[in-house]
Amino acid sequence: MTTADALVIGGGVIGVSVAHHLLERRPRLRVILLEREDQVGTGATSKATGGVRHQFSTEANIRLTLLSYPYFADARERLGRPVDFVAHGYLFVTGDPATLAASVRSVELQRSLGVRSRVLAPDEMRPLLPALVTADLLGGTYCGDDGSADPHGLLQAFLALARDRGLDVRTSEGVTGIVKTGARVTGARTVRGEYAAPVVVDCAGPHADEIGALAGVGIPSRPYKRQVLVTEPLPQLPGVFPLIVDLDTGWYVHRQGASAVLMGGTDKDRQPGHDTTVDWDAFDLVFRAAARRVPPLAEARVMRAYAGVRDLTPDYHGILDQAAEAPGFYVACGFSGHGFMHAPAIGRLMAELVLDGHAGSMDIAPLSLARFAGGTARPEANMF
Ligand SMILES: Cc1cc2nc3c(=O)[nH]c(=O)nc-3n(C[C@H](O)[C@H](O)[C@H](O)COP(=O)(O)OP(=O)(O)OC[C@H]3O[C@@H](n4cnc5c(N)ncnc54)[C@H](O)[C@@H]3O)c2cc1C
Repeated sequence: MTTADALVIGGGVIGVSVAHHLLERRPRLRVILLEREDQVGTGATSKATGGVRHQFSTEANIRLTLLSYPYFADARERLGRPVDFVAHGYLFVTGDPATLAASVRSVELQRSLGVRSRVLAPDEMRPLLPALVTADLLGGTYCGDDGSADPHGLLQAFLALARDRGLDVRTSEGVTGIVKTGARVTGARTVRGEYAAPVVVDCAGPHADEIGALAGVGIPSRPYKRQVLVTEPLPQLPGVFPLIVDLDTGWYVHRQGASAVLMGGTDKDRQPGHDTTVDWDAFDLVFRAAARRVPPLAEARVMRAYAGVRDLTPDYHGILDQAAEAPGFYVACGFSGHGFMHAPAIGRLMAELVLDGHAGSMDIAPLSLARFAGGTARPEANMF
């Protein structure tokens, strides 16, 4: 049997960030990362479109971005390599009075935490994208520090740093069982053998609830398909404009490279499942929302489309905790479409939880497993 100080299950951006932060704090730890596929980074992380934003409605999500942001803005300093971060801004728009009132409250909260977001009237949005139709809008919110970066680049950066400190990455090692001594978790079984460790961290992304079930821990995170389409070049739109989210339809658009655009959304409320077949009919809604908000997009020709899976929780916040009923079993999942941008913070907080027994960098009670039963879960409103 192979022994370790900590087993990390899942080689997505969360798993490698957790491994990196454990080893950054304690370089002598023996950390083994178990990945089911024959290489890391092929799960949800490979489908992430790279958005990084401060504009959330809850303090927990805003603080997760604030803790993560330096890894994007100062990537060379923090990670030793760039992650192609571009601060193109995010613009949320709405024509609904209640949504606007909630957005104004979110901006107040964001600003109280130091975020440079602001509320915009419809006519203040036009300079950001002259083709934007604003006649039916009541207002919106904007933060120029929001942007996007390369998910694969971030994963590789954490992986390289962790490997330099001795991370043992084992691919084609699907976890099939969690080993327990009494209630305490003491290891994991894989398709190849058994591992003993006092700490097991579940970072299996959209499959994290299945790993939880192996440990006897109920994790209310479920897989939901998210698909996006990329257009052929659209020279009629500017080379740079903010990522725009229409809060009333859930539709969003952003520049993909210098010429094409990427669109998606409108599919948040489907049935759960791991299917990633592209549903072309569902793009009708995307195009309808696009044509209404940015008419030149109606003429866009689709270059490609793909689907991935997001792990959503009932309140659209991640779960970061040690399971009370299975000491030694740690959970880092359910990131509800924000897992890439929050990966640096999650790694750091999980390392604190494992090594110090509590997270010192921020209050993670809103990310606890207990919040669901305790009725303290407060949903993230800026979801699309
Ligand atoms: C289309 C799309 C767009 C997105 N856009 C954004 C965005 O703009 N910004 C953002 O922040 N987030 C975005 N996300 C969400 C983001 O991709 C995820 O939150 C993040 O990648 C989750 O990382 P992870 O490491 O938890 O999961 P994953 O990357 O899925 O990694 C989990 C790993 O666990 C492995 N695994 C599963 N079961 C087992 C097992 N039994 N044994 C061993 N290994 C196992 C898997 O093979 C996988 O490699 C998007 C997601 C999708 C689908």
